Amino acid sequence: MEISRIGVVGAGQMGNGIAHVCALAGYDVVMTDISAEALTAAMALIERNMGRQVSRGKIAEADMKAAMARIGTTQTLTDLGASDLIIEAATERETVKQAIFEDLLPHLKPDTILTSNTSSISITRLASRTDRPEKFMGFHFMNPVPVMELVELIRGIATDEPTFLACKGVVDRLGKTAATAEDFPAFIVNRILMPMINEAVYTLYEGVGSVTSIDQAMKLGTNHPMGPLELADFIGLDTCLAIMNVLHDGLADTKYRPCPLLVKYVEAGWLGRKTQRGFYDYHGEAPVPTR
Ligand code: NAD
Repeated sequence: MEISRIGVVGAGQMGNGIAHVCALAGYDVVMTDISAEALTAAMALIERNMGRQVSRGKIAEADMKAAMARIGTTQTLTDLGASDLIIEAATERETVKQAIFEDLLPHLKPDTILTSNTSSISITRLASRTDRPEKFMGFHFMNPVPVMELVELIRGIATDEPTFLACKGVVDRLGKTAATAEDFPAFIVNRILMPMINEAVYTLYEGVGSVTSIDQAMKLGTNHPMGPLELADFIGLDTCLAIMNVLHDGLADTKYRPCPLLVKYVEAGWLGRKTQRGFYDYHGEAPVPTR
């Protein structure tokens, strides 16, 4: 399976990073989003992030120019019809993802591979609602995509070997490393990471520590580069909550119960960096704890 054109669905935090690395690796990319503002913001961010790579000597200016020219944007999902590989990176909600694949299917080539960047939703279930479950996989990038080396590749129960090998080939060409995971709720990274973040929110909720003391304790005490609350803001609190709900529903164990304080932040629309307020407020020069 020769892959040269990649369609990226969703131009949020992850979608823009995915378009960035794919274009730099020489793939033609078409990125779509329902929001025109998201597409404009994504292109500006890609330009800024690649510009930073140029100024640090990581890529040449000519590579940046060529990569930027390889990225097209559209608000029309069906414009992705000619893609060899679809990487869906829209909002972490199963109904949203399912509708995207349903709308796309009639416009795709028979051998187009479908993948989702979902952090937690069942790949097998998403795949089963398409006409090609054997050509469906989880393609899970880490945030920020241009910086993080790992991609989790998740096989659904029906995924065939050529599909896995084609996706592995893309990961290799991106210069990243693949870790393979079985299709169980939240796969490997988030199965381990999210309960830790949720526990940090419980620690805050129960008054064991303040935002600052929890993050400082975990940074200095366990050598993590970011504290768990800072990291939650970075990931997006809505995404963290969605993943905890998938773990809770999928594994039916009370140890995955989302912390009520996390629910409250999401209900308030305090989603972290993307809304400039979460466990920290990002409106000023330096982040200020909100509790
Ligand atoms: P985000 O909220 O930043 O972006 C989601 C984008 O999807 C938005 O721009 C939204 O307008 C768009 N969208 C919604 N419905 C759409 C539709 N029907 N068609 C096209 N676009 C649509 O979210 P994100 O953080 O980029 O997460 C995207 C996906 O990546 C989720 O599945 C998430 O679980 C996964 N993911 C996130 C992280 C992270 O750290 N944030 C890490 C790995 C994977």
